[in-house]
Amino acid sequence: MNVFDDKPHEECGVFAVYAPNRDVPRVTFFALYALQHRGQESAGIVSSDGNTAKIHKDMGLVSQVFKEDNLEMLQGTHAIGHTRYSTTGSSHVKNAQPYLIETLHGPLSVAHNGNLTNAHTLRKRLLERGGGLSSTSDSEVLTYMLAVPTQLSGFETARVKTENGSSVNIKDVDFWQSQLISFMLEAEGAYTLGVLTKDAVYGVRDLQGLRPLCLGKLGDNGWVFASESCALNTIGAEFIRDIEPGEIIRIDQRGVTSLKLEHHKQLAMCSFEYVYFARPDTNLEGNVVHDVRQRIGRRLAKEAPVEADVVVAVPDSATPHGIGYSLESGIPYTEGLIKNRYIGRTFITPDQSLREIGMQLKYNPLRANLAGKRVVLIDDSIVRGTTSGPLVKLLRDAGALEVHLRVACPPIRHPCFMGVDMATRGQLIAHNRSLEEIRVHIGADSLAYITEEGLRAAISNTDVPAADTGHCYACMTGNYPLKIPEWLFAETRDKNVFEGV
Ligand code: SF4
Repeated sequence: MNVFDDKPHEECGVFAVYAPNRDVPRVTFFALYALQHRGQESAGIVSSDGNTAKIHKDMGLVSQVFKEDNLEMLQGTHAIGHTRYSTTGSSHVKNAQPYLIETLHGPLSVAHNGNLTNAHTLRKRLLERGGGLSSTSDSEVLTYMLAVPTQLSGFETARVKTENGSSVNIKDVDFWQSQLISFMLEAEGAYTLGVLTKDAVYGVRDLQGLRPLCLGKLGDNGWVFASESCALNTIGAEFIRDIEPGEIIRIDQRGVTSLKLEHHKQLAMCSFEYVYFARPDTNLEGNVVHDVRQRIGRRLAKEAPVEADVVVAVPDSATPHGIGYSLESGIPYTEGLIKNRYIGRTFITPDQSLREIGMQLKYNPLRANLAGKRVVLIDDSIVRGTTSGPLVKLLRDAGALEVHLRVACPPIRHPCFMGVDMATRGQLIAHNRSLEEIRVHIGADSLAYITEEGLRAAISNTDVPAADTGHCYACMTGNYPLKIPEWLFAETRDKNVFEGV
């Protein structure tokens, strides 16, 4: 664990392009740059020219993994790309994505964002069918599930519709669509997929829409999809729409085809995308994330006002929340902490005596803006509580008279099993501590979190929080949108091991 990093981590970023007249590896490379915040452990691209597929992937940032010769080697008409942070499966090159295997129907490559909550059951079934696996990742299980033709009992009766709502005879879908439908009938949990075959790319969003995915148009005859619309902006693609929960899109030389698997599952897009994960310039569900974060900050100011001289946000992720708090409260916004942007996730963990120095390496206080001031410090979230105390101390040492911490997310009391690396229950500072105990631990003059109702209202842009029924808030409420196997809650669980196999 990086002690200077108290944020949950998104598992992955997914991108795909079908554009015969473009340099698709380079388009994918630049799109992955824009999705780097969704995973910094490994990156990969698979491309196809209509016959064979080529792959390059490795550990490291996008800029470290790809060089000019890799991109030259990957030339083709379509490609998928992936940036990864591990939640299931260890941080090792064999777990890097996309996966690429050969099948009877040609090459199959899969890039996955999310986490399958029944991965251990699926893995067991696959092994019983004689399949061999080489990694500990649920994404590899998923890839082999797509490769092995399986007609489930529910397949014949699955209800599938086109984009305009007309019913599709299940016998008329193509081979890969039928494999994806079979997978969706069996899988539980979060999965946004980019799938590459020899002549098409497929995009899939799970039935509950836990992770985002959007469709874009690239020039006259190119199409792309990406985890976030910021990747579309980077490559000059036009945002068309979000891909819907339960939707499978196919992009090939005929253009875009959409199928939607009908279901009755609760919609549950991760609310944390709005709080922290997604880039502020991304468009989700018709909202610019930056605007939602400002609304959250405004709501926080209404719910938890305080007498103060300046508002300071923890950079960069809490900046829009801080601006919102300032606009609503009328307290001037100022920069109080300067972040060193070059301290990554792999920063060497110092011993206890050097932790304070380490915190100062990451954040340097702007004394001129803090000395003699009563400060409202805005952070987007607190997970383990490892950085909040040192940050408050930094501000006090820089001369702040008072530090009032305001948090743009309700207390996180429950782990996430849907593709976000948070912590176990026992590691979460808010799991079994009162507000006052946390305040004392952090050393702030006062502490307040936005309420769950406040966050719901800000996301749904309404004063009627009950109106928001389409998002997951499970890490705050404990109300999971799907059944979570009991063993997943075990404090000692090793996330690299599929128990039950
Ligand atoms: S529990 Fe739900 S809201 Fe929290 S991070 Fe996971 S998916 Fe997002």
